[in-house]
Amino acid sequence: MKTAIISGASRGIGKATAISLAKEGYAVIVGYCNNQEKAKEVCASIANNGGIAEAVKFDVSNAGEIKSAVTYVKEKYKSVDAVVANAGIGAYGLLIDHSDSDIQKVIMTDLVGCITLCREAAKVMLQQKYGNIVTVSSIWGEVGGSCESVYSAAKGGIISFTKALSKELAPNGIRVNCISPGFIDTDINAHLSKEDVKDITDSIPLGRIGTPQDVANAAVWLISDKSSYVNGAVISVNGGGF
Ligand code: NAD
Repeated sequence: MKTAIISGASRGIGKATAISLAKEGYAVIVGYCNNQEKAKEVCASIANNGGIAEAVKFDVSNAGEIKSAVTYVKEKYKSVDAVVANAGIGAYGLLIDHSDSDIQKVIMTDLVGCITLCREAAKVMLQQKYGNIVTVSSIWGEVGGSCESVYSAAKGGIISFTKALSKELAPNGIRVNCISPGFIDTDINAHLSKEDVKDITDSIPLGRIGTPQDVANAAVWLISDKSSYVNGAVISVNGGGF
């Protein structure tokens, strides 16, 4: 059985991706930072449907926790076949209002966390000469979002990191691709008012905001053999318009 690690999988896009990959037959590692209860609920729901899942704590801003988690998975499940570097936090406001620690937190979580998880997974995948990595950027990483400059910088970094890493790992049978979601209905957007959400919805050509499942479907496809010639790609899942 193949094993997939998903960071930040206790809710939102990570949760939908974990459930979807379990349906594809993966033993799923539901990575979580703080919310063990929610992560265990995700695992229970997968198990109730005949899948295999385990909640494993790792804060992606803590390299030691990532290393321990990947080592644990490799020892217990014997392989790390797929990784979805999904965990992330938003950061809203004028750049001049961001403190040093605000900036460091976003870069450490959204960019360095992704890079470190990919590095630890790549160590295992290079031994296997097989693997599939999906990073999660954002439309703001492609075009830049006003009042989200630091978040945009982190997410833009993920895109160039993905492209570079895809070239480095491909000769060893490892594909690396990126998903760039637009507006998806998850807790990361909970600060927005109903009016804000309506304005955003009105601006999307497909006429609706995205669901976590929309993004999970792209991740499943990128991890499957159906995308076997796709490498270093940035797949926008945003309803169009950018
Ligand atoms: P979410 O807030 O529901 O999920 C984010 C997950 O990341 C949570 O489970 C959270 O606990 C986890 N997380 C946060 N900090 C962490 C840390 N230090 N270590 C481990 N886990 C941590 O939001 P979401 O929309 O599901 O976000 C998933 C990814 O999608 C994020 O990278 C986000 O930037 C990206 N994204 C989301 C949208 C959107 O509109 N929802 C758009 C573009 C990109």
